[in-house]
Amino acid sequence: MAIERTLSIVKPDGVAGKHIGEILRRFEAAGLRIIATKMTHLSRREAEEFYYVHKERGFFGELVNYMISGPVVISVLEGENAVLKHRDLLGATDPKKADKGTIRADFGKDIGTNTVHGSDAVDTAKFEIGHFFSGCELHPLK
Ligand code: ADP
Repeated sequence: MAIERTLSIVKPDGVAGKHIGEILRRFEAAGLRIIATKMTHLSRREAEEFYYVHKERGFFGELVNYMISGPVVISVLEGENAVLKHRDLLGATDPKKADKGTIRADFGKDIGTNTVHGSDAVDTAKFEIGHFFSGCELHPLK
């Protein structure tokens, strides 16, 4: 299986709810290595550019306003099949439809307040990682 990288963001509700530690613990317990992490408060421009693929969607304004409403924790995860493994840990976009035991089912409130973002493909992950981290900020094991 391929070693991949993916981008994870603990959204403002995950930070405010004090779930950062538990969420990162689940990633490590599943075999994903955290090779970069930082807490930041996104600017409107950073959030709009990050979510530009959704700019024509009706929820875009709401999504951006939500993502800049408080601090977030952004991490790069590395491991076998990392993109899908991370998405499996998150569960479905809508917490009400997410499988029991997934992060969104356990902590999410509704489709807009769903606790964690995860890249949906290797190519998307590459763009998303580059949006927030430079190469020398990534620390894979040698
Ligand atoms: P995912 O984050 O599971 O990849 P999408 O890429 O479809 O989901 O959407 C990006 C984010 O936009 C979601 O995580 C969610 O926070 C928000 N979102 C998606 N659909 C809606 C909606 N119908 N109403 C409000 N927010 C939404």
